[in-house]
Amino acid sequence: MILFDEEFVERKHKVFHTEIGDLPSGTKIPLISHVFHSGTDGPVVALIGGLHGDEINGVEVLRQMLVEGSFNDLTRGTLIVIPLLNFYGFINFSREVMNGKDVNRSFPGNSKGSLASKVARMVTTQVVPKSDLIIDLHTGGASRYNFPQIRYTKGDTKSRAFAEIFAPPVILDRNVIAGSLRSVSDRYGVPTLVYEAGESKRWCGYSIRIGKEGILRVLHHMQMIHTDMRPVRHRVHHFTKTKWLRAEDSGLYTWTKSSGQYVVAGEPLGFIGSPSGEEYRRVIATFDGFIIGHNNAAVVNTGDALFHVGMLEQE
Ligand SMILES: [Zn+2]
Repeated sequence: MILFDEEFVERKHKVFHTEIGDLPSGTKIPLISHVFHSGTDGPVVALIGGLHGDEINGVEVLRQMLVEGSFNDLTRGTLIVIPLLNFYGFINFSREVMNGKDVNRSFPGNSKGSLASKVARMVTTQVVPKSDLIIDLHTGGASRYNFPQIRYTKGDTKSRAFAEIFAPPVILDRNVIAGSLRSVSDRYGVPTLVYEAGESKRWCGYSIRIGKEGILRVLHHMQMIHTDMRPVRHRVHHFTKTKWLRAEDSGLYTWTKSSGQYVVAGEPLGFIGSPSGEEYRRVIATFDGFIIGHNNAAVVNTGDALFHVGMLEQE
């Protein structure tokens, strides 16, 4: 099972259809990848969407860029674009593939393993070793909205530099999660940007736009495309420390502040009420910061994460 059947030698755009596995029904699960080659040497960049099949903003970022021809005139190097890595998760509208397996906890994977493991193996063997940079597009899961942000591995200065060129509103350094794509790409020394923007199963036009602009900025910086870049119009926050503000009650939840806003300790951020109307309690900020993610759930339980806040003094 191979993703690309030839070397990148001449100027071209090719689309490869591969079967990654099959379901108990015998239904084949495909994997579709685009390879754009400039015809000249240069860096190899991999853009991956839909590793989690229900995280559709990243799929849409790449779909729009493909349709708009953003990669058609590469000036050097090679681009590998996989708009939807996890077909099964997309069909099933789930983060996971069969058996509750998460592709992003299945790296480096196994070609004879579960579907999640096979998908991970294909990326480990055929994308990571060829790449000089990987951009992996995600969203928040389970009703959690992420304000557009790039996460890179703590201490990885190359990835940090690319994150700054991408210039999303929020940049975070993060430890590596075992079994994630980053756990493998780090081992190969391949800089990797994880773009987290919006919420699973929902469109976010802002997240899609920031994602497209960031990718263009990075490719432009690597001299792989010529394009008139729009200047960055937002402030770029770099947080090394973030905190979660959690629900102190359970009930029906409404937020009054959300991602992309500054908060000050003591400020009301929302309220939680009981269905009977007897209980009502404000959610109050307990520290200052900038909201980088929030919970859109209508019903919350005590202890649920409501707001993800970047600590400003750490910038
Ligand atoms: Zn994800």
